[in-house]
This record gives sequence, C-alpha cells and structure tokens, in this order.
Amino acid sequence: MTALRGVGAALADRLRHLGVTQVQDLLFVLPVRYDDRTELKRIGSLCAGMRALVEGEVQLTEVVFRRRRQLLTRLSDGSGFLTLRFFHFSSAQQQGLARGARLRCFGEVRRGPQGLEMVHPEYRHVTPGADAVEETLTPLYPLTEGVTQGRLRVLIGQALAELDNAGVHDWVPQEVLADLALPSLREALRYVHRPPRDARLEDLSAGRHPAQRRLAFEELLAHQANLRLLKRATRTDPAWALEDAAGLAGRLLASLPFRLTGAQARALAEVEADLRAERPMVRLVQGDVGCGKTVVAALAAARAAGSGLQAALMAPTELLAEQHARNFRAWLQPLGLPVALLSGAQPARARRSALAAVAGGEVQVVVGTHALFQEGIAFANLALVIVDEQHRFGVQQRLRLQEKGRARGRFPHQLIMTATPIPRTLAMTAYADLDVSVIDELPPGRTPVQTVVIAEQRRDEVVARVSQACRSGRQVYWVCPLIEESEELRAQAAEETAAQLAEALPEIRVGLVHGRLNATKKDAAMLAFQSGRIQLLVATTVIEVGVDVPNATLMVIENAERMGLAQLHQLRGRVGRGAAASSCVLLYRAPLSLLARRRLEVMRQTNDGFEIARRDLELRGPGELLGTRQTGLAQMRVADLMRDADLLPRVQAAAEVLLNGYPDNIAALSARWIAGGEQYGRVG
Ligand code: ADP
Ligand code: MG
Repeated sequence: MTALRGVGAALADRLRHLGVTQVQDLLFVLPVRYDDRTELKRIGSLCAGMRALVEGEVQLTEVVFRRRRQLLTRLSDGSGFLTLRFFHFSSAQQQGLARGARLRCFGEVRRGPQGLEMVHPEYRHVTPGADAVEETLTPLYPLTEGVTQGRLRVLIGQALAELDNAGVHDWVPQEVLADLALPSLREALRYVHRPPRDARLEDLSAGRHPAQRRLAFEELLAHQANLRLLKRATRTDPAWALEDAAGLAGRLLASLPFRLTGAQARALAEVEADLRAERPMVRLVQGDVGCGKTVVAALAAARAAGSGLQAALMAPTELLAEQHARNFRAWLQPLGLPVALLSGAQPARARRSALAAVAGGEVQVVVGTHALFQEGIAFANLALVIVDEQHRFGVQQRLRLQEKGRARGRFPHQLIMTATPIPRTLAMTAYADLDVSVIDELPPGRTPVQTVVIAEQRRDEVVARVSQACRSGRQVYWVCPLIEESEELRAQAAEETAAQLAEALPEIRVGLVHGRLNATKKDAAMLAFQSGRIQLLVATTVIEVGVDVPNATLMVIENAERMGLAQLHQLRGRVGRGAAASSCVLLYRAPLSLLARRRLEVMRQTNDGFEIARRDLELRGPGELLGTRQTGLAQMRVADLMRDADLLPRVQAAAEVLLNGYPDNIAALSARWIAGGEQYGRVG
C-alpha cells in the first residue's frame, strides 16, 4: 500500500478494513452513489430532496437560539434565497460567512422554516467565474472509520491514473467475455469511478449501467466459482457411509401414522442416497412451512443411529429445540432410541449428564439450539448434523460445523432445512455449495388459510371472532406488535395484550409466551397450548418458526404493516396445519405506506411461499439485498441477486468454464472480490 503517495502505516491499516491491501484493490472499492457537481444550479430552481451545487453571495449570517444554538446564513444568487444551517461552527467560520462573501455549496436541499435550506453543506469561498465545476460525476464511497471521502477520492484517482500500467488483470476468460456484450474491465472501472457528466445518473443509482453490470457479473462469478470450488473440495472428504444395518429408518417409516407425500419421498430418497455414500452430504431441503421437513430429518437421524453412529439436530430457538425433541422422542423412542435434549435452561447436573452420555456414545440422537452447539460438545461419533431453519446460517458456519464434527478423520453429513423459499435461479447462486432438494407439496387434507386485512379500529370484531373460534373448540394465536427496541419491551407489550384479552374474554383460557420467559415457563405454555389446556396463546414473534399445533385455526397478527412478507408468511404457517379451515387476520394501524399496502395485499392473495418470495423480491427495490440476511450469502459490493438475476445463468455457465479450464483464476477473482476474512476457504 505504501506504494501510494501519502499512505502511512495508520492509513494503510484503516484501508485494510475496506479490503484494500494493494494499489489495485482501491479500484474495487466501488462508489455507493454519485453526486452531480458538474453543473451549478440556480437557487430558484431547487426543490426539496435534491442534492445540488449552488453558488451565491451571503446576505446575512446570524447566530440564533432555537432549542439549540445555531448559525444561519442566507445565500442568494439573484434567482432565490437559500438558508445554510450549521449546528457546529467556530467563530472563524462565522466570520468567513460575513455578508458579501461568495460561496459555492453542495448539499441536500430540504424544506426549512424559512424556505429551502441545506444543513451543514460542504462549501468553499470562490471568486466569481474563476472556479471550474467538476468534469465528472462525483463518486461517494463506502466509508470506513478514519478515511474521508476526499482522501479516498484522491487515492482512487491515483490508482486510476496507473490503471493502464498497474496490471489490473482481467481474470474472466475471453471466451466468456465474448458473448457478454459488456464493456472491458478497465473501461468499466474507469466509468464507475469517473462517470462523464452526461452519464445517466438514474441508471448509475439503480446499478443498471453496463459498466456496473460488467463488475456485478465478475463479482457474482467470483462468489459462484468460489462456492463451487468449495463444494468440490468438501465432496472429496471422507465420511461415514450410513447403511442402517439395524433398519431403523425403515421401521420408523412403517410406524408413522401417515404416508409421506410424493415430494417428501423424493427428498428423502435424495438424502438417503447421499447418506449411503462415503462423501459428506451437504444438502439443503427447501420447503414451505408445514410441508413436513421434520419427519424427513427424523428418518435421516434414524438412519445414522441404525448405522451405530450419532445424529444431532440444531434448532434456532429453545422453543423449537424442545418441540423437535418431543417429536423426535415420540417417533424414535418406540424404536428403542433415546433422544437427548441440550437446553440452555437445563439444570447444570442434567446438562452434565446429557453431555457425558453424548460424549460416551450412549445417546445417539441429540437435539439442541445453534448456540449450544457453538459451545463445543464432544460427540462419540457424530455422523449427521441437521440444521433447522437456517435463514442466518451462512457458508462460514456450515464450514465450521463440518470441521467441528470431524471425528476419527471423517466429516459429518449435513442436512439443512429451510422454509425460506427462494426462486430457483437465486437458489443456485446463493446455495452453490449445497445440493438442494425441494418439497413443493403439502400433506393432503389441508385447507388453504383465508387471510383478511383489518384496520386496528375494528379490533372488537376481531376479539369476537377469537371468542367464537375458541367456543367451537378451536385454538387461536395472537401475535403481538413487532417492537424493535428490545426484548424487554416486546415482553411487556405481550403481557399487556394478554391481560387485556383475558379481561375481554373471561371464559377463555389465555396463555403467554415471549422471549423473556425462561425455557421451563415457555415450554409449559407451549405444552399447555399443544394439549389444548390453553385456548388462546398470546405470543411475540418467538413462535415464528416451526411451532406445530394442528387444532389452532385462527391467527391474529397485530401491526402486520410493520412486518416483512417472509415473516408474515412464516407466522401464518402456524395455522392451517389440520383439516379444518383456518384464517389469519392481519391487523394494521393506518396510515399504510404504499409498500405495506402491497405486502398485505400479497398475503391476502396467496399462500404459496415461492410466490410470496417472488413478490417479495419484486417489492424490495434494488439495493436491499435478499442475500446476506435471508440466505446467509456474503455481502456483495455491486451485485444484487434480485436486480442482476438475468445475469445468473451466464454466471453459472462462466463458473463452469473457470472450474474446468482456469482454476487458478478463481483464486485471483476471490482475492479481488471477497474480503479477506470472508473467503470460503477451509477453516483451520
Ligand atoms: P415444516 O416443514 O414446516 O417443518 P413440520 O415438519 O412441522 O413442517 O410438519 C407439519 C405437520 O405435518 C406435522 O404435524 C407433521 O407431523 C405433519 N406431517 C408431516 N408429513 C406429513 C404427511 N406426509 N402426511 C400428513 N401429515 C404430515
Ligand atoms: Mg419446521
């Protein structure tokens, strides 16, 4: 890094946070947006919301006290007035802004008490007509502590000046580029860092300019090829071939009170074929809420146990871990298989003895939360890890799990279950290191959930509906508002709601679960609900995933306008699990934003998780990445899976070309695009 002028050790260190370790890395620190400073705007032509460059003469500068001490400067260019507002200022600054001073300012225009204003604009003094405007649009870079925009711009400018001899190599093979019809790497880099003044700012802001698409293609390719390489590497590791000599999976299947759906049977066959191989399975089972993923997992666990080895199931919450443990016990104990539950709430002694049984191999099936497994449990011979509901389960975690489970030179098989359906092309990119099975069919006899959207003012009608459902022997979920501030406040809100409902419905048995209850209490409430002793369960979104009570036929969701589609769909999946017709009431508080209105409309129209995922992607604009949060995919710099979805088939084909013909280029591309710590290399 020190090859650049003016970069000392301290700055080099800060740049490392942006993934910059050598001069050419700077070129891949990409602008997040652009300002147009190529043109002076007349003050009279400004509107609120614009970011604009203006020039004018100071008419008046004064310090005023309105709640806070502040400096107001009135600027005019003959076409109108603009107020500049400063909350932090020095007296030197104040003097510099005296009447008659000529300023050029850049900032965001907003409506203020005396007309349009800019708060803390960038400004400098100018001599009329003497200063040129910018030749190109001004890039704004992602900031890292201690590196200013100005500094980054200068450094990147230096790197750009050396672009032609700095050896920024194009690692995408010519044969791939040929039919891409996008600019060359150098052209693309030059363009995104210094867009000409006639560049279409809308295209650039939306990330749709060909130069950006060229870079997005390369970034997607880097991730894709990297994941595929990883997949190749993991599949050459040794694993136990699970033959199930004891025939436990077959016996479990025969003992089930239902037949598997065609889709479950297909997924199971794929899982079993993987488990019988001496290479680790890394398979994602994707299927909408209620499609019956758990039993597929239990059958896989039975196969491991029937092969004399151990299986572990990790759930995202205590509540779910407990529910899985109950289900697994009901299915597996009749086959003579004990199931250990490792819970955070367990007394230390119970936990110690469970841990000992797991380490000694006396227990073959273990259920716990993700957190518990991260603490490191010793297994006697772990052959299968099952991860439930893995929204936030990324590549790194999958790798770590694999390393952790390693015993006697063998790696465990991994089965990951998710209820977040994403369209197929996206899945192939986001989960390129996984094999994917899809369960796209619900067990028979389910009636689709009817969804209605009702304003908060009509709460009484909804309460009456709850009462009616309970009187006819059904059960009801009432989901409390999503309060972001804290678990504590969420718990409080749930308690208040439960108290109000209990008062309004004295004949009904009301229960409560929220994140602040300890596991024993939560478990007790859930059990009581499951067994029907509680008729109305008031809950925070802790019940979001996986909870299964077929007799519950009504769900009320408060403040539904504040929740995302994925979450609403997950919640709604708690009802409609039995044969009786179920409904879901989405309560909202007016006014609804356009986006919220559309989301609720989607919920009303369809129950299909894949369709909802598709609509969700449409509704989220570009920039709001599906990737990171939902799929555990690494954060990307220019690419956006949704916006650039049309590139994905070509990205996949290109990854194939790289894997087969240019394996060395993959490392180079990864080094360029995937920040140091996040590269999907093997851990340890
Ligand atoms: P999810 O895929 O959301 O985890 P679950 O595994 O919790 O769904 O299954 C939902 C419910 O459907 C459970 O009560 C389960 O026992 C039941 N179930 C699963 N498979 C079938 C089937 N083939 N026929 C009938 N019921 C089934
Ligand atoms: Mg589940």
